Amino acid sequence: MKGTVICMKLLSVVVPCYNEEENIRDFYDELFRNAPFFKEKEIEVELLYIDDGSKDRTVEEVKKLCREDSRVHLRSLSRNFGKEAAIYAGLQKAKGDYVVLMDVDLQDPPSLLPEMYGYIEQGYDSVATRRVTRKGEPPVRSFFARMFYRIMNKISRTEIVDGARDYRLMSRQVVDAILAMTEYNRFTKGIFGWVGYETKWMEYENIERRKGETKWSFWKLFAYSLEGITAFSTVPLTIAALIGALFCLLAFVMIIIIIVKTLIFGDPTSGWPSLVCIIMMVSGVQLFCLGIVGQYLSKTYMEVKKRPIYLVREDI
Ligand code: UDP
Ligand code: MG
Repeated sequence: MKGTVICMKLLSVVVPCYNEEENIRDFYDELFRNAPFFKEKEIEVELLYIDDGSKDRTVEEVKKLCREDSRVHLRSLSRNFGKEAAIYAGLQKAKGDYVVLMDVDLQDPPSLLPEMYGYIEQGYDSVATRRVTRKGEPPVRSFFARMFYRIMNKISRTEIVDGARDYRLMSRQVVDAILAMTEYNRFTKGIFGWVGYETKWMEYENIERRKGETKWSFWKLFAYSLEGITAFSTVPLTIAALIGALFCLLAFVMIIIIIVKTLIFGDPTSGWPSLVCIIMMVSGVQLFCLGIVGQYLSKTYMEVKKRPIYLVREDI
């Protein structure tokens, strides 16, 4: 072997897990089904399970794998910080030349990895996936999801792709760019779009989760979408200002009408029901706009506290 340069590439697989005891081993098996491919391409793999404060036997399951295979690592967070924080924790731990993010429930099929890696070899900085169908999802959820993406892409300059998954293969450069974004309110889909770089989009049919249940309730998704809007657009603030201006204009026109009417027809006393309606409406609009400002203020408040994004309990 004298004279040959061995240049193994390290691929970090980052997998956030929250109460996923049944999926840990399945994921491991499925990932290493690509073993011949890894060997052929001289890719070394480190598999990082990020336990996001699970309350079931997730940690034990991962530890078992760690004992069996030195390629498996665990980072356990001190409590449930949310997937976004778990992803950040994983990216910080990852040492690979390339990093891939995957869900442990096998909704992001590891069998796509060879094709994704092919694109990286072609010179793309990152390879992202989007599902073209929402098969197996409640229709109401699909409807709101579509609406969200439509609105979001109108009001934000950052591109946020409908159906985009967090399943992504990235070069070290992209990972470092994401790590440099240390904001507390982490809307990952927006962050990926914001950092840019040459991205190849791969499409696939939605796959239902293998075992266990989704961690996202409708309201959790709703709150998440609001987070996305405040994190990547300030258009709602502008809208609030515009509504204010519109109402001022309306009031001005009404004052003139009333003055002219009084001068011509005198002043018959009437109209208090309409007055009540107007007061109700205007104060409603005021509270609404105040609420919008409040959203941004609360996000700013959380940012200036500079709390850590996650805390580690155990690192193996
Ligand atoms: N997840 C996490 N922390 C959470 C919620 C979810 O790390 O607070 C992980 C979860 O274990 C899974 C991935 O994020 O690996 C996606 O979660 P899920 O399948 O529930 O979301 P969905 O696929 O339904 O969008
Ligand atoms: Mg899932």
